[in-house]
Amino acid sequence: MPRVLPYADMDKIMSLSKRRGFVFQSSEIYGGLASTWDYGPLGVELKRHVKEAWWQSVVLGRDDMVGLDAAILMAPQVWVASGHVENFSDPLVECRECHLRFRADQLETERCPECGGEFTEPRRFNLMFRTFMGPVEDTGHEVFLRPETAQGIFVNFQNVLNSSRKKLPFGIGQIGKAFRNEITPGNFTFRTREFEQMEVEFFVKPGTDEEWLQKWVDERFNWYVKHGIRKENLRLRRHDRDELAHYAKDTYDIEYRFPWGWGELEGIADRTDFDLGRHAEASGEDLTYFDEETRERYLPYVIEPSGGVDRATLAFWLDSYDEEPDGDTVRVVSHLHRKLAPITVAVLPLSRNARLAPTARNVHDLLRRHFSTQFDDAQSVGRRYRRQDEIGTPYCVTVDFDTIDDQQVTIRDRDTMHQVRVPVANLVNILQDKLEHGW
Ligand code: ATP
Repeated sequence: MPRVLPYADMDKIMSLSKRRGFVFQSSEIYGGLASTWDYGPLGVELKRHVKEAWWQSVVLGRDDMVGLDAAILMAPQVWVASGHVENFSDPLVECRECHLRFRADQLETERCPECGGEFTEPRRFNLMFRTFMGPVEDTGHEVFLRPETAQGIFVNFQNVLNSSRKKLPFGIGQIGKAFRNEITPGNFTFRTREFEQMEVEFFVKPGTDEEWLQKWVDERFNWYVKHGIRKENLRLRRHDRDELAHYAKDTYDIEYRFPWGWGELEGIADRTDFDLGRHAEASGEDLTYFDEETRERYLPYVIEPSGGVDRATLAFWLDSYDEEPDGDTVRVVSHLHRKLAPITVAVLPLSRNARLAPTARNVHDLLRRHFSTQFDDAQSVGRRYRRQDEIGTPYCVTVDFDTIDDQQVTIRDRDTMHQVRVPVANLVNILQDKLEHGW
């Protein structure tokens, strides 16, 4: 039987995350802000590597993709045209006694679980955050914090098309913050009110959309597997007809087996020409595409793979956690994919001896120009290996007294714990090769 999250329960992961500086509660010294999290020194590196792996895979690594970084604040008409003002809402009920609010579609009881009170009729609650632009706080100055990054791509479709001279099929990728006033946030960083998305809008000729939807579903599913998530902890789920979003013709979710059950990591939707059509109509701009091959003019269809950075980061972190028997003790080791691990190489001088320090520092200076590194000379080497194992560092480089004379160091692999001795002169190349191809 494959191992399915036997150890990575949430309490363990949350305390490890805090102790080692992955994730802290936001505003903790003031008692914290509910369901809001800050990424610490290691968490920010892990999340940055997740974003880099995504950007490399879907933007830099493809001829048919370009990138974008649109503003969070957009003209309010965008959200009217996109349907968010009308449709982006959850049904809410309120307890008539204690006035607590609950999502009607998630309630299992007919009475308030807190006080047994009666509920009001469900009311739609819009999930978009509002604020005001400029010094006057009236509805004429109201703007929204974007609830998805996608609309920044749609409204820039013509700008990107004209400036990049791309031909269909092509897509635009973007990573950025999104905000949703979720009624029931929770499960650590899985559902928060402020989060990051990594989204692609891929523009295709109508009629080829179903084929492109399949391609992107495969591509995105394999990305999670390639970066270390065990296949048995991933599944694809196609939306039922009555579950589809207002803009979608077909959607697949990539789900991960979280400790509390299956949860969505990414949705891949066929959005048809819904968004470009609505924006063309509302703005009066022509957003059609002229196909030089067929001499036709049409509104492209759109395939949208839309993933959450925080959810992906959490899934990579959970899935890699392991406890291995080690004599009488246990080795806690995170088998994070070598390209995602927050620290790629740790430099460990055998001791704090003054004779060793300059050589060890030189090795560290050499490596930090190429990799995410850490220098650690506190306590025994064995304990330092354990500290690096726990945070998923794939390679430790040990500098010992022989290094001073023979200019060689020992590389130790996190997963196999194998060690090889190599010349410092070749160290960068050897590590780069291991990073690319594995140990
Ligand atoms: P859910 O059903 O879990 O609310 P959704 O279907 O509303 O998600 P989408 O609108 O498809 O989500 O957003 C795309 C991706 O953005 C999701 O797959 C998820 O990874 C991420 N995401 C959405 N809402 C949140 C949130 N509140 N917190 C963290 N990530 C989120």
